[in-house]
Amino acid sequence: MLVQCARCGQKVEKHRGYEHQGNLFCEDCYMDILSPPKACDPWAVHSAQTFLKGKDKFSDLTPLQTKIVDYIRGKGESTIEEMMKNLNLTEGDLRREFAVLRHMEILKATKKGDKIFYLLF
Ligand SMILES: [Zn+2]
Repeated sequence: MLVQCARCGQKVEKHRGYEHQGNLFCEDCYMDILSPPKACDPWAVHSAQTFLKGKDKFSDLTPLQTKIVDYIRGKGESTIEEMMKNLNLTEGDLRREFAVLRHMEILKATKKGDKIFYLLF
C-alpha cells in the first residue's frame, strides 16, 4: 500500500513512511523535519553584524573606490582634475565612483569658488 508524503507528495510504501504529528512523511522529509536548523553560516552572520553596526562600509569598496578614498583621505580634499592627473583615471570614471561613494556617505562634495572639491563625509 502506498501513502503520500505530506510534505513533498512523493508516494512511499506505508511501512516505510514515518508518522510525525499526525502526518505521514517519506524518509527524506522526516529527517529534514527532525534535523535541527542548520548552523549559521559564519560569513552571513559576520556581514549581518557588519551591516547592523554600519561602521565597516569601507570594507565593501572596490579597489578603485578604495584608491580614490585613500587619496582623498591623504590630501584632505581634492578636485576631479587633480585626481585625473594623479590617479590616472578618466573624468567619467571618477564621476561614476563619486556618485556611488556619495550615496554610501563616504565622500561629499563642496564648492569653493568655481571648483568642486571632494572630501570625506
Ligand atoms: Zn517527502
